[in-house]
Amino acid sequence: MSTAGQVTEVKRAVREAVERSRDRVLEISADVQRHPETGFREERSAALVADWFTGMELPFERGLSRTGVKARMTGGGSGPTVAVLGELDALLLPSHPLADPGTGAAHACGHHAQIASMVGAAAGLAAVQEQLDGDVVFFAVPAEESTELAWRRELVRAGELRHLVGKADLIARGAFDDIDMAMLCHTAGEGAPRLSVGDSHNGSVVKQVLFQGRASHAGASPWRGVNALKSATLALAAIDAQRDTFRDEDAVRVNAVLPQGGSAPTAVPDRVEMEVVIRARTVGALREACAAVDRAVRAGAVALGTTATTETTLNYLPHHQDPELVELCRANAETLFGPEKVVRGWHRGASTDMGDLGEVMPVLHPFTAGAVGDAHSPDYQVTDHVTAALEPAVLLAWCVVDLLVDGAAEARRIMDAAGRTDEDGRGRQDRTAAQVRDDYAALRGRFDASYTFDGADTGAGGDAGRVRRGED
Ligand SMILES: [Zn+2]
Ligand SMILES: [Zn+2]
Repeated sequence: MSTAGQVTEVKRAVREAVERSRDRVLEISADVQRHPETGFREERSAALVADWFTGMELPFERGLSRTGVKARMTGGGSGPTVAVLGELDALLLPSHPLADPGTGAAHACGHHAQIASMVGAAAGLAAVQEQLDGDVVFFAVPAEESTELAWRRELVRAGELRHLVGKADLIARGAFDDIDMAMLCHTAGEGAPRLSVGDSHNGSVVKQVLFQGRASHAGASPWRGVNALKSATLALAAIDAQRDTFRDEDAVRVNAVLPQGGSAPTAVPDRVEMEVVIRARTVGALREACAAVDRAVRAGAVALGTTATTETTLNYLPHHQDPELVELCRANAETLFGPEKVVRGWHRGASTDMGDLGEVMPVLHPFTAGAVGDAHSPDYQVTDHVTAALEPAVLLAWCVVDLLVDGAAEARRIMDAAGRTDEDGRGRQDRTAAQVRDDYAALRGRFDASYTFDGADTGAGGDAGRVRRGED
């Protein structure tokens, strides 16, 4: 196949096949929406996906990072592998009108529509499978959202998970080793353009800080106490004092809460927990903002003479889409929806684990309309499953067609531009999959640390504060 007309014919066949699956695609979107499950617990949703793959006679694996389901469609020729993803998980939002009354889970980020667009794309591409020079993986992935972190930390300690979010865990397990590029289509908020392409997202880091002082009678002998709450409030003030130093273009956000602020006002608080989420647009800005928060924590500890034990975990890497994939998607979206309906995306302050995947392969993450309300709020709901799920199924499948027809020339060109094709042009990455994973782990490792800082230790030279354990 070589002419544009032939590609148009293939795309027409894809669209007709998606249309034939219309009712089932819309039903799976609504079904998953009605049965929300939080990350790493998406058993029912995963079973629906598995049933779909079984019906299509696609070989698949399940139980990846607990609930992931991954099917492979073999192309007529060999070549690179393109993945279409769908995120399985819901948020924890009991006030949402469609929340599960038992668990409080609710699809307030529209991920159910991604599941439908993924299986819809599979239905569409099955009609032209023989004309693709490369495989297509359809992958339902768990736990994009950062919820139930205490439980997830237990799973990490128990060795069941390596990371707190789905794609990071799947990457570490090698579940993306046999995939060369990946795409999904996410729903946007109310009033969003029909489709936006090329949006980027902040990376995010979580710091859990425990300030420990000494309790004493708050009325009779407060001077005997060491007030951990005052350390925490000073640290918060010190964080706020630095906001002017964050550059606009870095989109830094620092948000903190005190999940535990002391037990009773009759005693000097000796144990206070602070949790901080730090976000920024680049790895460098994220590290700088983390260092600023560390200084603020130490300032609070030194001022009162408490100890501050800090555990830092990288949540998501900054997300940047592959520019060539974005262009390919834009062209297809303009054909499907009309050029006036497709806009160039912007930088979003939120975060996604597609940032992690973008570190190991080219990724595409357009946003579609079809929902009302603001994402992650009780009024957010996909109300138009055709716009949110069915049409994105055609869009994603068309992108796959462009990538994999003609000896997968376009996929190879994009991999080459991303520095991932060897000189033989066989679509192998220039690093082995294990090397890519190692580099990714090393990047994560630059953030992950835990240490205790003793604000009361004045040291031999009189310098306040010592890092007692580990490195910062
Ligand atoms: Zn979300
Ligand atoms: Zn989301």
